[in-house]
Amino acid sequence: MSSELFHDINNFDDFGNPLIIAGPCSAESREQVLTTALELKKYGIKIFRAGLWKPRTMPCSFEGVGELGLDWLIEAKKQTSMLIATEVATSTHVEASLKAGIDILWIGARTVTNPFAMQEIADALTSNPDVIVFVKNPINPDIELWIGALMRVYNAGIRKIGAIHRGFSTYGNHLYRNSPQWNIPIELHRRIPHLPILCDPSHMGGKREYIPTLSQSALDMGFNGLFIESHCNPDNALSDKQQQITPQQLNSIINSLVIRDKSFATTELNLLRELIDQCDNELLEVLDRRMNISRQIGTLKKNHKLQVVQTDRYDSILNKMIEQGDKHQLAPTFIKKVMSAIHEESVRQQIQILNNNENNE
Ligand code: PEP
Ligand code: MN
Repeated sequence: MSSELFHDINNFDDFGNPLIIAGPCSAESREQVLTTALELKKYGIKIFRAGLWKPRTMPCSFEGVGELGLDWLIEAKKQTSMLIATEVATSTHVEASLKAGIDILWIGARTVTNPFAMQEIADALTSNPDVIVFVKNPINPDIELWIGALMRVYNAGIRKIGAIHRGFSTYGNHLYRNSPQWNIPIELHRRIPHLPILCDPSHMGGKREYIPTLSQSALDMGFNGLFIESHCNPDNALSDKQQQITPQQLNSIINSLVIRDKSFATTELNLLRELIDQCDNELLEVLDRRMNISRQIGTLKKNHKLQVVQTDRYDSILNKMIEQGDKHQLAPTFIKKVMSAIHEESVRQQIQILNNNENNE
């Protein structure tokens, strides 16, 4: 359904492969905007980003220069001929940006989380269906909310739409500021195949040293481009200083990226894929056999009035499997995930047997 809805959206092939959008977290001064833009232009960057209205967690943080910065961005556009992108969170931001001549708008993670805010933005976008709009993922890993936001933009008549994966909020200490859950953008791609998807390794990693690996992983997974924070003087940036890099650093990261051919397919690759398909079929057969036995156990449990979930038994299976998995180079976390999914389904099927039998009595 969704892919049909999005069948007529534009791709951004003309903007390069990978498509790169770079610029500071925030526009701070005319000088900072122009210096950064001119340096990025020197390294061949074609699209410049800078935030004017910053959705900050704490009210005491720098919350952006607001409308004042629109003139600086337009001046950067005139001096560099780059396309200019900024973040919008309200209809007033949309109106002011479109009036000033901003080319690309992005909607940030916090805003995407709120359907009312999204609808307000979408309504304001109807005045200029030619504008390019990128929708970041919501802060929580909810693909429907992300697709819903994209649909609101699409329904407003916008056809130049893209998505940006910037990772999801987690509680506590984690390696990355916003944890990448690659399966979610991959599912988004499966559901809306021609929707361009970029990765924002800056907000995902939260630290500049993570940018190269996250960027490479994104491209390896078929992302269409990168959205990266770059500042002429990152250590003195007014927001997100740990994750910003100089235009020169950005250039060397881009130059070191390996761009893989999407259509790459050799006889050897096809053969290996056939082997993988065989393994998947075998997995299904084994699972089917296992569930069959599990259902027989369910009937026994029913007849002997035994409890369905027996944690001791599950614990001992899990420990044994983790131990054996280790010998096969299978990580304990992976074994836990697989076994808990199998156990959950097994319990569900046994409970169903109990209920069915009870209903038949
Ligand atoms: C940003 O790109 O400047 C930003 C605020 O990002 P996010 O919405 O991903 O937090
Ligand atoms: Mn930022």
